[in-house]
Amino acid sequence: MLEFLFPPACPVCDTPVSTQGELCADCWTSINWIDGAHCVRCGYPFALEIDFDAPLCPVCAADRCELDWIRCACVYDEASKRIMLPFKHCGKINYANFMSRAMIWALRDVDVSELDVVMPVPLAVRRLRTRAYNQATLLARPIARAIGVKMDLDSVRRKYRRDMGHLNARQRAENIHGVFVVKNPDAIRGKRILLVDDVMTTGATFAELRRVLIRAGARSVAGVSFCRVARIGV
Ligand SMILES: [Zn+2]
Ligand SMILES: [Zn+2]
Repeated sequence: MLEFLFPPACPVCDTPVSTQGELCADCWTSINWIDGAHCVRCGYPFALEIDFDAPLCPVCAADRCELDWIRCACVYDEASKRIMLPFKHCGKINYANFMSRAMIWALRDVDVSELDVVMPVPLAVRRLRTRAYNQATLLARPIARAIGVKMDLDSVRRKYRRDMGHLNARQRAENIHGVFVVKNPDAIRGKRILLVDDVMTTGATFAELRRVLIRAGARSVAGVSFCRVARIGV
């Protein structure tokens, strides 16, 4: 009956689809999914299929990865922007269904059984009041359920800072420094934590959150995001 009243449609463009919440074929193929060779540590996509075991990107080869490991479902470009902006700013929270499914798929080659807790990157309370939801929490909930671990929503607080949109890498790192405060170190100590965010830009947010979590006694900190800024081809 519900399907008769509301036939399944692509959440992005309203084209009829067979399964509720799924993207249509056109929207799906427009997205630059990270489905080929990638850095085994940070998930950075390589331009060509590489046939040696455990390839590392130059950043990870130099041991400068922001986290223990990172995976992202797709590249941030015009196509994924058409999903990200309405999801983040226009209340399209139903996008979280297919986005989180893609992120679970992005975790296919890492050992999620070694995780204790899933933590969405916290949003400042002041921003939460104007936006009404933390988009990272919407993505984290189905991921935590799929992995079979709890979400931690309140052990870390984020102070309000102005938006980082127009800043370069160095300015972002400076702007984010000191923004996260661990409120409940007991919940962090000894834990293997998976951070969840919608987009990874320079990695400065992940890196700063990892810094305070490790200082509070976390055992490891990994991360997953829906999309990431990347120049295809290292
Ligand atoms: Zn579509
Ligand atoms: Zn890497």
